[in-house]
Amino acid sequence: KAQAAVKIAKRSGKVEIYRNGVLKEAQRRFSIESRLRTALAQGCLTLAFQPLIHLPTGEVNGFEALARWEDPDLGTVSPVEFIAVAEESGLITQLGRWAAYEAAQALSRWDAKFGQPLPVGVNINLSPIQMARDDVASMFEESLRYSGVAGNRLTAEITESAIIADPEKARKLLVALKDLQMLIAMDDFGTGYSNLASLHSLPIDILKIDRSFVSSMLDDKDKVAIVRTILSLAESLHLHVTAEGIETQKLAHALQTMGCGYGQGYYFARPMPEAEAYDYWRARWNFETV
Ligand code: C2E
Ligand code: MG
Ligand code: MG
Ligand code: MG
Repeated sequence: KAQAAVKIAKRSGKVEIYRNGVLKEAQRRFSIESRLRTALAQGCLTLAFQPLIHLPTGEVNGFEALARWEDPDLGTVSPVEFIAVAEESGLITQLGRWAAYEAAQALSRWDAKFGQPLPVGVNINLSPIQMARDDVASMFEESLRYSGVAGNRLTAEITESAIIADPEKARKLLVALKDLQMLIAMDDFGTGYSNLASLHSLPIDILKIDRSFVSSMLDDKDKVAIVRTILSLAESLHLHVTAEGIETQKLAHALQTMGCGYGQGYYFARPMPEAEAYDYWRARWNFETV
């Protein structure tokens, strides 16, 4: 039966199309890997910074650092694509080290520009594969030492899958990051296999509600219910909450009314280059409120 199907497919050219598709995909993956290797070695990646907003006051609480890559041949490659390739190829260790170092350096450059430490922090994304393979605690320790910024200005964004993969290792890492005074955020919360017990037993400070619940919340009663549940869970566990993917003023207002402390999304600002992020913060910084 299967052979007959292959014969029919062959006759109709479907196998060829399939082969070409797989080949093209493999070629793209291969060229991304080799170009990424070069880009990392030559320092061609950058970080973009997206503001994290305190919803009740509108103040800038910090920024999430997001990797950006523009290749001369491939053009702009989305982090969704190149992070996946970095994870498969093992380049994620190097990329992750670069991101942590660069994020801490950005903070120290902003501090130098302002003449004193800015009251903002930076969030850095950690890949589960990076957490499994690298000594992430000493990576952050070195980044902090080299940049001279206080540990409480860095937040590590981890995902539920990293905890599921190796709970004991994750626990040790999070405890080590807390020893550095860092904060821990659970990224994309609600999309993974949430283990509620681990939220309680691990030193987590912040839940980031995934964009998939937030962005279409106002037209979907089920999503509102999920967001409310996460907010009340966070309240009982004394965790802060950041809602991702806020694209409208209406949504920002609704979330604030529901008691969500922090928000992030295109309504406030898109991720932007380091210098622009500083200006964004500086324009909103009110000395009167200190
Ligand atoms: P993430 O950590 O959940 O980051 C949030 C993503 O949502 C970012 O996508 C951001 O640009 C996007 N976003 C923010 N606000 C809005 C909005 O209002 N609407 C919409 N539609 N999107 C919004 P980005 O920059 O493409 O990054 C995608 C993912 O790639 C990140 O998701 C993160 O998982 C990963 N990533 C990016 N940089 C790094 C990095 O340095 N290390 C690691 N391990 N992963 C990274
Ligand atoms: Mg993130
Ligand atoms: Mg996220
Ligand atoms: Mg997300």
